[in-house]
Amino acid sequence: MSLEDDSNDKITFNKICPKCGVANPDYSDNCIICDKDLLETKLYIEDAFFDLEITETELVEYRKNFYRTRRTGKVKRFKLEKIEKISFGYPIKRICFIYEGKKEVYPLKDENYNLLKDFMNKTY
Ligand SMILES: [Zn+2]
Repeated sequence: MSLEDDSNDKITFNKICPKCGVANPDYSDNCIICDKDLLETKLYIEDAFFDLEITETELVEYRKNFYRTRRTGKVKRFKLEKIEKISFGYPIKRICFIYEGKKEVYPLKDENYNLLKDFMNKTY
């Protein structure tokens, strides 16, 4: 008889809450701190000047402060159905789109640029 080794069953905290930034256990459906529905997040990336979340219906920008250390509390929401003319910049990595007649530009880190581009290509 052998005892099961369950040391691999440690809880990991890899699910970052887009709303408050807290790391949640992988199995969480709702944030342990702010109760945000974590299942509605389709993509979440952390960049230098902002974090971006994409849900079923919205693109949400959580602006960070100048020193990039924390968020300013400024949150911008874009309805996906109203986002027009998405383009990806090259050689400077960024995403551009038109929203309510205004051009929005988000410079991105390489890895986030690739993640977002892949996601947009698959989804839209
Ligand atoms: Zn939260």
